[in-house]
Amino acid sequence: MSMNIIDSIKDSVRSLRAYTLAPDRASVKLNQNENPWDAPLAIKQETLKRLDARAWSRYPDFAPIELHKRLAEFSGWFPEGVIAGNGSNELIQALLVITIAAGKRVLINEPTFALYRQITTVLGGEVLSVPLNGALSFDTRSLLAAIKSSAPNVVIICSPNNPTGCVMELSDLVSVLEETRGLVVVDEAYFEFSGQTVVPLLRQHTNLVVLRTFSKAMALAGLRVGYLLAAPELVREVAKAVLPYNLNFVSQTAAEVSLEMYEAALRPLVQTMIRERERLHGELSNIKGLSPVPSRANFMVVRSALEPKKVFAGLLQQDILIRDVSGYPMLSEYFRVSVGTPRENDLLVKALKEILR
Ligand code: PMP
Repeated sequence: MSMNIIDSIKDSVRSLRAYTLAPDRASVKLNQNENPWDAPLAIKQETLKRLDARAWSRYPDFAPIELHKRLAEFSGWFPEGVIAGNGSNELIQALLVITIAAGKRVLINEPTFALYRQITTVLGGEVLSVPLNGALSFDTRSLLAAIKSSAPNVVIICSPNNPTGCVMELSDLVSVLEETRGLVVVDEAYFEFSGQTVVPLLRQHTNLVVLRTFSKAMALAGLRVGYLLAAPELVREVAKAVLPYNLNFVSQTAAEVSLEMYEAALRPLVQTMIRERERLHGELSNIKGLSPVPSRANFMVVRSALEPKKVFAGLLQQDILIRDVSGYPMLSEYFRVSVGTPRENDLLVKALKEILR
């Protein structure tokens, strides 16, 4: 009997290319939109103290109620409308697991974060997409037309959008919420850098789901914490697709401490990153052959007269790692850089001036 083991795998999965990241390393790491500073020492020390006082042999909370309470306070929403996950990736997956199957449609803007398409496809759903406009911003008029004509079950809006950094205006989002019969997910992974959140719209719009993460502004990417905000009845359904004990108590504790110390320890870092983003944008604009796109996140895409792959390779030679996004729709002439520390940004600018010369 010659049965290929791969025949057991769903066609939707086999036809997909895996979502991966090249294992390149460099001392200046500007490829994953992380906080370029480590988690502040005060947060680490307080977390370790609390961990030391707890039995490691015991399970974490079945659901991290205490963390949910603090997330609710931090976000201005109800604790019953919050669920934490092992990274926001887990919650995107849980939300799509409970909504998407064969015959269901997910509408996204493109280019955007690749995981939405990936998970929808694995689940057998159909992905419909609306291109960003020529300025790499949301084309709300086309998005509304697509919602009208295709009646998607889920619309996903990444705002600020990865990788372009554009933000959807609240008035446009309201139009999207009103036009959509299904759910509208707003991925706010980078909201801390944008000066805007859609959370106040949750009260009026029960079809809104907000996703956030501790991996960017909160400087905790290594510990994998994300959270979802929505109507409590919706959160109860999402919880059914999340594994018990999904959040280990190390991450849970670090997240609680980070929220307690946000104002003193993290907000100043976020403010510095916003200032650095603007400075970096100005510096890159002055390099002949480069046109950076204005961004409201902690990264930006840059149009380059030199092939993006050559820029990537040239920077890597100088121990600087950026993201090659030239394979994304509309971005064949672009690369993406995360905003680093002031020193890292200086090194990036200096290296780019040499490479583009
Ligand atoms: N959403 C967006 C838009 C992202 O860019 C990322 C990380 N690259 C994530 C979600 C995933 O975040 P997490 O680390 O919380 O899983």
